[in-house]
Amino acid sequence: MNIHEYQAKELMEKYGVATPKGKVAETPEQAEAIAKEIGGSNLVIKAQIHAGGRGKGTFTSGFKGGVHLCDTPAKIKDFASKMLGQTLVTHQTGPEGRLVNKLLIAESTSIEKELYFAIVMDRTSQSPVIIASTEGGVDIEAVSEKTPEKITHEIVDPALGLQPFQALKIAKSLGLKGDLTKQAVKLFQNLFTMFLKTDCSLLEINPLVITKENKVLALDAKFNFDDNALYRHPEIVAYRDTAEEDPREVEASKFSLNYIGLDGNIACMVNGAGLAMATMDIIQYAGGKPANFLDVGGGASEEQVTEAFKILASDKNVKAILVNIFGGIMKCDIIAQGVINAAKIVKLEVPLIVRLEGTNVEAGKKLLKESGMAIISADDLADAAKKAVAAATGK
Ligand code: GDP
Ligand code: MG
Repeated sequence: MNIHEYQAKELMEKYGVATPKGKVAETPEQAEAIAKEIGGSNLVIKAQIHAGGRGKGTFTSGFKGGVHLCDTPAKIKDFASKMLGQTLVTHQTGPEGRLVNKLLIAESTSIEKELYFAIVMDRTSQSPVIIASTEGGVDIEAVSEKTPEKITHEIVDPALGLQPFQALKIAKSLGLKGDLTKQAVKLFQNLFTMFLKTDCSLLEINPLVITKENKVLALDAKFNFDDNALYRHPEIVAYRDTAEEDPREVEASKFSLNYIGLDGNIACMVNGAGLAMATMDIIQYAGGKPANFLDVGGGASEEQVTEAFKILASDKNVKAILVNIFGGIMKCDIIAQGVINAAKIVKLEVPLIVRLEGTNVEAGKKLLKESGMAIISADDLADAAKKAVAAATGK
């Protein structure tokens, strides 16, 4: 799960990580009132979307930039009216962009230097790894490609936590000295504690800044949390903003379905993550593109199958639906009944290809046959993929 920058900053404050003061606004009037409350003439207004690259983004209205420095509350109000309700396109949003519903109004920071700091899970070492660079603010991917020597990695043993010598090493690699080192070490340790305690899967501070007043501050923040651990963090779940998510995934999550939307045109309903991955691969191999990953799981109920099928069938990009079930724990007749129920609710306008195998397969096939639905049946995985690709391309 992702959260907004203003929410990340609220969380960081709880963990003693220094950030600029600010508040969120949903109307130009609120934005102006917050600016007045903050006072002074050093203000910044920032579009809140679940994507980076806002500073260099452009609104579809033609208005440039999702981050602006302002010197009066009146200007904040004016900028707010140009940003709210508009779609911002950045290199991370894709061409469709994201609708801006919220703005962060904060005291602007006088920047001496922009640095980069992140913590991610490293599969190779099976530990969190800290990534730091003196080249903050800009596109870190470009730094990694062109000047990889400017990026430091530090693997942290989760049982021991971030050791002082490691925090010092990172601070040194960032060229920090004296009191700045002291501030940075404290900030790194607090961020690391936060990473562990909140079950973060990614934490990125870009930029981490040194101000002209010699303070170390987290100026921007992007956090991802492990969905499987959300049950123990109701305070983070409360931050969820479904307006930022793929509506298909929001719907799927209501029914505890393992669903991820993709941009192909062959919808897949599969049981078991491994089979789902294999199905996606074989669709690709047959020349097609999957519209989603969907694992209905071992113990899916008829209701879950119905809901899953509804999501697949109502997706406008979908040109064919491939149901590929191996009945081990999951029973083929449950899947068949779910598909039949859903097809009664949503008018099925695309070809349906079904490959069933395993427990209760005969009962499942019988149900489908007696339903009168037009079904292309397949004998095995390769056959199913070929038929799905042919159906989707109309060949
Ligand atoms: P992003 O473009 O989505 O990554 O948004 P950021 O919050 O990182 O802002 C982009 C850039 O705007 C930063 O790298 C800074 O250079 C600049 N910026 C953001 N906030 C401030 C601020 O308070 N003061 C100053 N001087 N620059 C800022
Ligand atoms: Mg940034």
